[in-house]
Order: sequence, then structure tokens, then C-alpha cells
Amino acid sequence: MFHSITLALDMKGCPNRCKHCWMGWSPNGDMPEGDLAAAAADFAPFAETLEIDDWDREPDYSDRYRERWELCCQLSGPRPRQPHFELASVWRLVRDEDYAPWLAGLGVRAVQLTLFGGEETTDWYTGRRGAYREILQSMDILLKNGIAPRVQVFVSKRNLAELPLVEALIKKLDLDRRCREIGREFSCFVHQGSCDGGNRQFYDEWVTPEDLDRIPERLATGTLNHFRAGTLLEVFGRTEGELCRELLADESTFRYVSDDPVFFIDSSYDVYPNITTPSPIWRLGNWKRDGAKAVLDAYVDSRSIAQRTRLTVPVRRLAEAHGNPDSRRLFGRDEYIELLLHRYCTAAGQPQTAGTVVRPKAE
Ligand code: SF4
Repeated sequence: MFHSITLALDMKGCPNRCKHCWMGWSPNGDMPEGDLAAAAADFAPFAETLEIDDWDREPDYSDRYRERWELCCQLSGPRPRQPHFELASVWRLVRDEDYAPWLAGLGVRAVQLTLFGGEETTDWYTGRRGAYREILQSMDILLKNGIAPRVQVFVSKRNLAELPLVEALIKKLDLDRRCREIGREFSCFVHQGSCDGGNRQFYDEWVTPEDLDRIPERLATGTLNHFRAGTLLEVFGRTEGELCRELLADESTFRYVSDDPVFFIDSSYDVYPNITTPSPIWRLGNWKRDGAKAVLDAYVDSRSIAQRTRLTVPVRRLAEAHGNPDSRRLFGRDEYIELLLHRYCTAAGQPQTAGTVVRPKAE
């Protein structure tokens, strides 16, 4: 019996195709609403409390976002459901005038919006022409409804030179003052994200320590406040070389099993633990075909390829096979191990781990 289980069903998908997306670019599905109740009924016997979400990519992308929110509240429990995340659908904010008031009515006080620089760059990264203008429009809509926009910027060497454009925009839109006027504090931050999913393609352009000096002052201060850090290096982590040398002497293994797991269920009903990108090496089974018990047994027994590898292969071997002791790219330790794990599990010719019963899909 788990303390809690959270199920996030990718019912509608996402209108964007962000280049950095850690969730990957699986096709948009249209799962029947009845799947929410069916999933709740199937997983409920295995947890003291359950939380059901009708999305794992763009929140509230379905036209029935209100009904689905209510349904998820009814199906979750007995512990009260978490409040609405400080995330929203930009796509819907600019197309549905009832949406922002609905968010405000749920008690949402801030919504995170993602920029990558100027208009052309943000459209390119978001994978949709017009995304930048919609983000700016969303800021006005949110503020009118008493919700503070929070600006997140993903950075690599590719868009470093555009950070001053984001800072200039924050000043031009007077976001500090406008948030204060609605009784909120404006916040903004920069980070590199984890090197997984789509963001792995930026490995060659990954930030190195000297790049941090190029983060403009307002964004740097906002980053320290957001992460409650004393220095930007605390936020961005250590160089790959330093981490790699440390891990080369590390014989530890790790069991990725929690008492409060979160599972992603994609539109073909494949199930993945929320650890990093829901890719074939993390697949636990198929909820519709295998049922909740089999999926949970696979999770607890670490039967996905990545879980089994991390449980049985010392981290030293991951670093020996795929680390770069000469690299100055900056990573958090856990994110770096997950990058090595991904490389180890997907390397051509790598034998699959013993006891793995899950068949990977093509990635
Ligand atoms: S990062 Fe978010 S908004 Fe962008 S494609 Fe991925 S899920 Fe969609």
C-alpha cells in the first residue's frame, strides 16, 4: 500500500512543441473522459490517498477544463487535492475570456510563463509562430485578473545573448510595479533545465561557469531569490568534469521507488514514473492491457530498464562509459546522473538489464 499515488493522464496533449521540452513530443491524443474514473478505480486499492490530474503537459488545454477539474477533485482523495499549479495554458488564456477569472477563482495567485529571449527566438524555441505575442498578451490578462506573471527563462549558449532582451521587456512592461499594485511580488528566474527530453539536444551548447557572468542583473537577482541561493553557481550546479571525477569513485546504486509516486499515463496508456523524461527506458507497462497492479509491481520491483540499471549498475560504471571529465558544462548532480543513465541505457549494443520484461517502444 502506497502512502499516496498521483496519476497524470495526458488526455489532450499540448499545442506547443518546445525545443527544450523535457516531456518529449508525443502525439496529442484525445483520451475519453471516462478514463479518469476508470484509472481512479483501478489504482485506488493500492494507495491511502489518490490524486488524479487530467493533464501532464499543457494544463487546461481541453475545452472541458472546468468539468475535468471538478471531476478530478471528486475522484481524488480522501486527502484534499493539491491546489491548481501555478501553471496555465497560454493558448487558452488568449482565446477563452472565462479562463483567467476561473483560475483566479481557484485561488491561483501566480502563473509561470517561459521566455527564451526576443520574439523570433521565443517562437522558435516554443515551436509555434505567435507564441511570444501570446505570452505578452497573457501577462496583461493575468494582471487584470489579479494574477502575477512569473517569468522563467531557459538558457544555453545559443540564447545567452538574448537575456538582456528579456530584462528590457520586464522593465518596459513595468512588471515589478504592476505586480505590486495587485498585491503580489513579481519574480523571474533563469536556469538551464535538466538535460533530458528535448533539452538534451542543447548539450553541446550547455552553459559553462563563465556564461553566468552574462546573466543581466535583474534576472540574476530574481534567480537567487527564486532558488533561495547565495550564488548563481549554487543554482546551475557543478562542472561536468568535477561531477564526473567524483562519480568515477562512487560505487553506489539507487532504487527509484517512492512511497508517494507520481505516474504519467500517455494517450496510448503506457505508464512511466515521474523521474525524468517518460521515455521507453522508463516504461512500466500499459495500464489498459496490464492493469494497475502489474504496473505498480513493475515499479516496486524496478523492472523498467532505467530503474533496473540504476539499481544494479554502480554509478561509477555510468560515468566511465559516458562521462566527460574535461567538460565544463554545469549540471546538478542528480540531473547529471540521469543524463549518464539515459546514455547508458540507450547506447547502441548495450545489453539490456537482467530481469527486464518491458519491451521498449521506438524513441
Ligand atoms: S515544455 Fe510544456 S508547453 Fe512546451 S511542449 Fe513541453 S509540455 Fe508543451
